Amino acid sequence: MTAAGSEFGFELRVCAWAEREWPPAGERDPAMAVFVARQLGIKERRWDTIVVEADRRALERRAHFGPDALDSDLLHVVRGAPAEWAYYRECLSEPDYPWRYVREAVHRAADRGIVETRRSGGRIELRRKWAYPDWISRIVAIENKPDLSASAARTLAGQIERDVALGLADEVWVATRATGASVEPVLFEDLPVEAGVLVVDADGDGTDGKPEGGARSGRGIDGVRVAWHPATLAPETPGTRIAERPAGSEHDRSAARFEYVSPEWKADKRREIAERAYGRGWRAYAERMRTDCRHFELRRGGSGAGGREADGRGAGDAGGEPGTASAVGGNALLPWCRAKGRLQTTTECGDSCPEFEPEPPAWRTRGWPIEGGPGRTAERLLARRRARRRPDAE
Ligand code: SF4
Repeated sequence: MTAAGSEFGFELRVCAWAEREWPPAGERDPAMAVFVARQLGIKERRWDTIVVEADRRALERRAHFGPDALDSDLLHVVRGAPAEWAYYRECLSEPDYPWRYVREAVHRAADRGIVETRRSGGRIELRRKWAYPDWISRIVAIENKPDLSASAARTLAGQIERDVALGLADEVWVATRATGASVEPVLFEDLPVEAGVLVVDADGDGTDGKPEGGARSGRGIDGVRVAWHPATLAPETPGTRIAERPAGSEHDRSAARFEYVSPEWKADKRREIAERAYGRGWRAYAERMRTDCRHFELRRGGSGAGGREADGRGAGDAGGEPGTASAVGGNALLPWCRAKGRLQTTTECGDSCPEFEPEPPAWRTRGWPIEGGPGRTAERLLARRRARRRPDAE
């Protein structure tokens, strides 16, 4: 497998594990819902895996606003919309961009049915249908580095230092592949002590040796263990954005540059990240793949050996993803390319793939063109799994 393919597969397995098993130590509170998403963050920083812990009751109130994410402009509208009719410029906070964009967002919100609008004397008035709830309890960022070489660890240490200083997430973790060593090499790397370390048996038999220097994962059945517990950061306090840092060599006498970020900025960014996680989940990779290729399929655990087909040509949506498989994510549905004989990346599985072949029309006869072929079935299957993470409106 290519390095990119290996990292992508590792990331998907970590997402599948986190969705089912989070938190890594202790039991999940029944009042807590968990969302997992990939490749989310802010302009200057994107995390591999984001875990959002949510209050289940508040999430039921969030469900009124529909399954799609609310972007920053829509959040501005729904959070500021009053209970009684009011001119939008008088009830919404002054933006740091032109009001015409706010007006567009008010119309978009009305089109989505999440606020009410009316015209009064040439003015657009709005009122809320529901109060937007505070549904986010905690946000956890995980950096996936399956093969953590010394140079990769040095680069990662700088990134994690910035994450800790900014304090946008409540916790920061590094997830790396288990090596089987009595003390995992990652623990010798110079990572900030605030970052937790997860050691993951992503391909093996789920028994990655005895834990050293840390506690076994709470359920301990999935080959993930906590090698180092993270510090809890403080997202509700001001953060520090490290803009530039000198290399520290004798030739580099430049000063570090940093700036403070306010708790309000952090709260806004956390809401936007959580909204995107709510809307996208981690299975949205399929939207960027050629699921209509005859070689595309979903396999449990993305495994070439014994992986079971679970798409329109195979087992279909065979219930949930109960934790019976041995390796991490071993029972999750992951993409698989039959032509390549391995898990493919989103970059490979595109229009430029030389091995792409469309699904034969005969595969689409049942229900075609309304239901589509096996590729559409796979997409629907992943969308259903994403949707069932979200509780219905109360
Ligand atoms: S990687 Fe290429 S051959 Fe494989 S499923 Fe995707 S498009 Fe088809």
